[in-house]
Amino acid sequence: MKIIIIPGDGIGPETMAVCTQILETVSDKLNLQLQLDHEIAGHVSLQKYHATVTPELLAKVKAADGLMLGPMATFDFKDESKGEINPSKYFRKQLDLFANIRPAKTFPNIPTRMNPFDLAVVRENTEGFYSDRNVESGNSEILVTPEVGIALRRITRLCCDRIAKSAFELAMTRKKHVSIVHKANVLRITDGMFMESCYNVAKNYPEVTVDEFIVDAMMAHVVRNPERFDTIVTTNMFGDILSDLTAELSGSLGLGGSLNAGDSYAMGQAAHGSAPDIAGKDIANPFSLITSASMLLNWLGQRHQLPLYIQAAKLIDQCMEQAIAAKETTQDIGGSLGTKQTGQRFIQRIKTA
Ligand code: NAD
Repeated sequence: MKIIIIPGDGIGPETMAVCTQILETVSDKLNLQLQLDHEIAGHVSLQKYHATVTPELLAKVKAADGLMLGPMATFDFKDESKGEINPSKYFRKQLDLFANIRPAKTFPNIPTRMNPFDLAVVRENTEGFYSDRNVESGNSEILVTPEVGIALRRITRLCCDRIAKSAFELAMTRKKHVSIVHKANVLRITDGMFMESCYNVAKNYPEVTVDEFIVDAMMAHVVRNPERFDTIVTTNMFGDILSDLTAELSGSLGLGGSLNAGDSYAMGQAAHGSAPDIAGKDIANPFSLITSASMLLNWLGQRHQLPLYIQAAKLIDQCMEQAIAAKETTQDIGGSLGTKQTGQRFIQRIKTA
């Protein structure tokens, strides 16, 4: 399998360097014969090619089996006509990676005020309030007059049906419970459609129990009792916000791994951004990207019937639990190591496992 590696902006080069070494180590150990091809996107690409992402890069990504995308400084990229394209949006849209799966769970040795929990947010990735991806061309955020702006939210039955199906499929591999998060009390048409899709899809999964929460109240429920949740399905922006919260509740946003999956392609990507406040300080937590890489290996293993890839994903997860138990982690989750040293210890752990 060939995986394209794109480090990204801010802390991306530091955490992706660790993640790449771990992929190489696990590939050597289990003879995965992974081919890792290094490419660029974001600020470095903007300087070199006058575009944060290029069609040539997309062609290379499409020709590979998977992509690991580092965090991007998306807030800096404001004008697509100047090549400032949001690379996350670009790949999600171009590769139709409609399901963003963001797991969050507590670990015994990570300080948190929460009861132990283990949940996954399944977030729609291609439409909703994201004005840079929900129209065929242009942008659905409009400056009507210098003092008036409008942002349109697109919700389609197709996207609702397929994200609901992803959530119920995932729930079948977990504790078989789906919580639908919405704002249908106000967004009656769009979130009404989303709810209708979820309940229709639910009929095909009689073993899965279902409940529903209005998104604002959900914030209180998830802070109060995160342990009551298993699989949470929601629309794009609500899922983006909620999943940062659940990652932080588990101990740190630096634990927030994610997979962006479509029917035929997947991209591993940390849930967080480029974290400019800690970039270059060797303190960024690489576990979010490492978890994302494990999710990608597992997806490739399931899709291409490659049991060794599934085993590799389990090995990475196991080593992460052991590293956390041994406090061989960055400071944000209670350890005392830098990013590089966390990676070096992790690699030793894989080699001796
Ligand atoms: P952020 O997610 O980068 O950081 C939020 C907080 O979490 C910061 O205090 C940061 O230090 C901390 N943090 C994030 N990752 C961490 C890690 N691995 N280890 C330890 N701490 C970590 O959010 P922001 O600062 O609002 O955004 C910075 C840039 O990232 C912006 O340009 C934003 O648009 C972009 N962004 C990109 C993505 C993406 O590429 N998918 C997602 C979110 C934000």
